[in-house]
Amino acid sequence: MTIIGLDDTDSRERGMCTTYLATRLAEAVEVEGGTVDRRLLIRLNPAVEHKTRGNAALAVHTDLDPARALELAVAELEPLAEVEDPRTSPGVVVADDEPADVPDAIADFTGRAIRDLLEPAEALELLEDAGYRHRGWAGGRGRIGALAAVGAWTALDEWTYEHIAYRAFDRCGTPRDVDEGSVFEAAERAYPVAWDTVDRVERQAVCVPNAPGPILYGIRGDDAGVVSALAGRIESEPVERAATFLTNQGTDVHLREGALGDLRDGRAYRVDGTVASDPETRRGGHVFFELADSDGGDARIDCVAFEPTKRFRDRVRSLRAGDELTVCGEVGGGTLKLEKFAVRSLRRTEEANPTCPACGRSMASAGREQGYRCRDCGTSRSDPATVDLDRDLDVGWYEVPPCARRHVAKPLVRGGFDAPVHPER
Ligand code: ATP
Repeated sequence: MTIIGLDDTDSRERGMCTTYLATRLAEAVEVEGGTVDRRLLIRLNPAVEHKTRGNAALAVHTDLDPARALELAVAELEPLAEVEDPRTSPGVVVADDEPADVPDAIADFTGRAIRDLLEPAEALELLEDAGYRHRGWAGGRGRIGALAAVGAWTALDEWTYEHIAYRAFDRCGTPRDVDEGSVFEAAERAYPVAWDTVDRVERQAVCVPNAPGPILYGIRGDDAGVVSALAGRIESEPVERAATFLTNQGTDVHLREGALGDLRDGRAYRVDGTVASDPETRRGGHVFFELADSDGGDARIDCVAFEPTKRFRDRVRSLRAGDELTVCGEVGGGTLKLEKFAVRSLRRTEEANPTCPACGRSMASAGREQGYRCRDCGTSRSDPATVDLDRDLDVGWYEVPPCARRHVAKPLVRGGFDAPVHPER
């Protein structure tokens, strides 16, 4: 078998898209008489600074001769890739291997490309060791992603689908003509097998991108037939071509188990802790709180729900110091950017000034560590009162809404979580 890996062909301003290139390449392979077994769309570490948008890399699995496959990939890539964009650094890798049986070192590289930050030199060394054909342009940094995509079928075991419909290429850059009513109706029917098609609260068709580029819409879900059927119900401008990809989207494969105290920038974690400060809304509408070691250690980290996470911030604002959590998200600049969290236990009471046993009025603090005194009767008490806290959170998982979901983050509705879930849709 032949695996063709592709990455880094697009530009943020001019808007190509490597999935489009992979789709065109797969068509060219078939025209040559090759069979295309699979198209993979792999989301790599979302913390990578070189990414254009979603840090996607692509692979095409085929029986075409590898030398011919490389020629075809180069012929398709060169006219489409935005190599003049200084941030675009395309790479192609062609492996003469079984997709499910690439060398361990390559599969390991895929896992690290999803969870870590890697250097092009390591990709080049592995490429040479494995004897894979490869080409790079403008530095060829895309070979990191291309090689990671080559290893993906061996490295990963959880797969979802995305059906992508493309516009006529000459319409790119113009407003997309997609009937939102038909999107909402089709999304409703296919939920929850197809997820993140719309955001019902924001009234947003999240399957239709805003950025320039050839994608008209992308429908995600757990079943190839369901996502294609959903796409078939959408009324829109003409669809020039379409393809269904196997992907690692919606799987949380980017998260690693972490412990407060050894979290590093550029990685994403699942980590336990106790809320150390009541949440605070700062300028721009971002909501912050501090998470501390549950065992009383010194380790702490700031957690943030950014403004674009919308109603998720209300969940975060409902947290109180003392709540026990598991939080998930990427660490950058020493702050964990929340994608979801689980409430493990809620603090149910808080301390308050006690009531005077003689006159029934509220007692005042008598000074630091000096207990409480009633101003009217002079009565004193050493301990505060305990009152019940009214909580509007429950135990279980809360998540950002579809409009703020990262591609690789797992929607709660997909299941498999270790506590009750409160899915957003
Ligand atoms: P595109 O649609 O072009 O794929 P994108 O948002 O996926 O857009 P890229 O333009 O591909 O982003 O940029 C990502 C770059 O980062 C690529 O060159 C890729 O090889 C590289 N890269 C991917 N994962 C890692 C990683 N874990 N460490 C370092 N570099 C990485």
